[in-house]
Amino acid sequence: MFDKGHPELSIIVPCYNEEAVLPEFMKRMDAACRACVGSNFEILLVNDGSRDQTLDIIRTFSAANANVVGVDLFRQHGHQLAVTAGMQLCRGRRVMIIDADLQDPPELLPDFMAKMDEGYDVVYGQRRSRKGETWFKKMTASLFYRGLKLLTETDIPLDTGDFRLITRQIVDYMQDMPESHRFLRGMVAWIGGRQTALVYDREARFAGTTHYTPRKMAALALEAVTSFSAAPLRLSMLMAFVATTIAMVLLVYVFISYFYYDSVPGWASLGTIVLFFSAVQLFCLGIMGEYIGRIYFEGKQRPITMIREVISQNTMNQENRQ
Ligand code: UDP
Ligand code: MG
Repeated sequence: MFDKGHPELSIIVPCYNEEAVLPEFMKRMDAACRACVGSNFEILLVNDGSRDQTLDIIRTFSAANANVVGVDLFRQHGHQLAVTAGMQLCRGRRVMIIDADLQDPPELLPDFMAKMDEGYDVVYGQRRSRKGETWFKKMTASLFYRGLKLLTETDIPLDTGDFRLITRQIVDYMQDMPESHRFLRGMVAWIGGRQTALVYDREARFAGTTHYTPRKMAALALEAVTSFSAAPLRLSMLMAFVATTIAMVLLVYVFISYFYYDSVPGWASLGTIVLFFSAVQLFCLGIMGEYIGRIYFEGKQRPITMIREVISQNTMNQENRQ
């Protein structure tokens, strides 16, 4: 068994309806960990309110393998918060975040460890290619990462997901960030320190389908932008400026046409102008609403994650964690 204080390595795995992949994932992940750090590691399988047999499978693993710690959340919290729950409980000196669906190959663990040995605080996986993903997903992902780079001052690396190895210090600082809207890769980038990329090819899902629907992707994008940039607020100022300029030009035109042409009252153009300005105003209000909404939710200070049970062979382990 590992030393109870700090195992060498913690692996955090968010799992939502992953019954089809978990056995294969565990086989490969467990082997990769043992090859790297012997038995001095823990794998935290976080059940994010799955509706299939995922929790039962986690229980079986935990009963059979002392290195497995199951974490059962009260309900589905979403990918980012499931990882956050893992972070709250993990105790490793180094922490890896990895998806359960084998899109991120567990066999890269030694490469991550070797890079970190060079003195980095964060080694993040950067995708050279993505297999088995739709054209739509690749295009929106690419646009998202580039748009985000334009908007934010924090240098969030391109084409990088949450697959990464980070040090205990980074995990601790993330716990000190109390926000409930969490965009983890942005938070890690914000902390800074010595960070480097490990380029890899993203595999196709081993089984099952993605849980990121276009709607969830849009929500994550909005999260990222509003959490890390005030640029949209400034955008509304810019739009107000553009609209004012247009209005001034139109005003001049109206005067000129009044004196020089035999003008007919132009209700159509007037209507257009009114509509245009209403649209600009509503858009600006919408942007402000988005940020105010965030202040409102953060102001409630509700718990970020709700953990129902920690499933581990080691009862000491469970008590310590709560
Ligand atoms: N996941 C989760 N909660 C969710 C959605 C996803 O814990 O609400 C997990 C999922 O089990 C997987 C990881 O997050 O391990 C990434 O999800 P997915 O593969 O669906 O996303 P994609 O790789 O398509 O971006
Ligand atoms: Mg996936």
